[in-house]
Amino acid sequence: MSLSDSCVGIPLRLKFNVILISIFLISLLGAGVYYYGFLEKGAIDDVRRDSEVLMETALAIRGYTTDQVKPHLDPLNVDRFLPQTVPAFAAVETLRRLSERYPGYEYREATLDPTNPRNRANGWERGVIERLTALQKSGTDDQVEATGTVGEGIKRSMYVARPITIQNPACLSCHGSPESAPASMVKLYGKTGGFGWNIGQTIGMQVVKVPMLYPLEKARSTFNTFMISLLIIFGLMFLGLNIALSALVIEPMARLNRRLEDLATRDFLTDLVNRRRFFERLGSEMSDARVHNTSLSVVMFDIDFFKRINDTFGHDSGDLVLKHTAIRVRELLRRSDCAARFGGEEFMILLRETPIDAAMAVAEAVRAKIADIPFEQVGTVSASFGVAEWNHEEDAHALINRADKALYEAKDSGRNTVCRAKDAPVRRVLVESPAV
Ligand code: GH3
Ligand code: MG
Ligand code: MG
Repeated sequence: MSLSDSCVGIPLRLKFNVILISIFLISLLGAGVYYYGFLEKGAIDDVRRDSEVLMETALAIRGYTTDQVKPHLDPLNVDRFLPQTVPAFAAVETLRRLSERYPGYEYREATLDPTNPRNRANGWERGVIERLTALQKSGTDDQVEATGTVGEGIKRSMYVARPITIQNPACLSCHGSPESAPASMVKLYGKTGGFGWNIGQTIGMQVVKVPMLYPLEKARSTFNTFMISLLIIFGLMFLGLNIALSALVIEPMARLNRRLEDLATRDFLTDLVNRRRFFERLGSEMSDARVHNTSLSVVMFDIDFFKRINDTFGHDSGDLVLKHTAIRVRELLRRSDCAARFGGEEFMILLRETPIDAAMAVAEAVRAKIADIPFEQVGTVSASFGVAEWNHEEDAHALINRADKALYEAKDSGRNTVCRAKDAPVRRVLVESPAV
């Protein structure tokens, strides 16, 4: 990973993705809550409509039986009681067939005290009849109706219930008393239930039940498809935006950053690091050497009579010498070492895990490589070297000063030579003897 990636790319991409994911999660949550509510309401509306249609169907059957069947087959005029002529029986029977085809769709005429025992209201139905009776008593002229849900899980249904109130005096001919009721009816159902009804009495309710499972399941699967589509869209957007971010922002920025970094830390002529970066490297190598208790040395060298080279062969030839000196130095160093152009025709080499004797040997090798092979255009060139080992106490400038002094010594002793720096002065701690 390049420095520019680690400085620019990752935090920027991370921030961008955190913002992107946050926006998406908030949108996903908002859209999910809204859409789920919308679908659930739609499903419940569908169920309500189905139950109303079912209720109206029952009423239509009842009406048809009353108007079209009963006048021709009056149960009172025949020997055998014909329940088929009773509107409630006709509606229940017809819709029972429907519920065989569509399980869960139910129609009942739940009665508190029924003639036909199969119409007896169960516990839950009794509660709804009581509610309907209470609603009627509250005095509204509108059609009283109760709706709600019943059952749990997959058996959950919506119901619509309407009260059955005795309004037609003709009803009492069958439901007044067993004595006045048709003998054929009493014979079929007995004398125990369905008598003593009065005009205006609510004796039960018509109730339809429509299962909620299918519409809710449909709503849920539509919801899941919607959410999965959103996730896929987001995934693709996430990928696309990240690719675009890399191509349009991070890579160009990383390139620019590398370029700026190079400009700030590299010497363009020799391609060695500059003085600023050298001090940074020296600082980190000193910390490392302190932690691991290893040795660290520096070699400082300066090309001899360089001014004369410039004056004799021209500035460009001088530049070429600097460039080729850097190449020769680099050839002799390890990857872990660092060579820098310290200024003008002055160079610096940082040798990690290298004691002074080994550093002297490296300096000697560099000296020989410069002096022994003539340079293009200018011929033989030499350089003078000062070598110092860090004593783990002095600071970077003190170390460089010692190498610099050794370099001057090399110049003074005739140039083209390597001089070892003197040891740093020992810091003495004066302990005053106590007064006697
Ligand atoms: P000494 O042996 O004592 O080091 O003598 P010198 O001539 O090498 O030292 P001096 O300090 O007198 O001259 C250094 C010259 O290096 C002077 C300057 O013009 C030249 N110089 C500095 N930087 C560059 C550069 O980038 N390119 C070229 N061609 N010359 C440079
Ligand atoms: Mg010089
Ligand atoms: Mg110089």
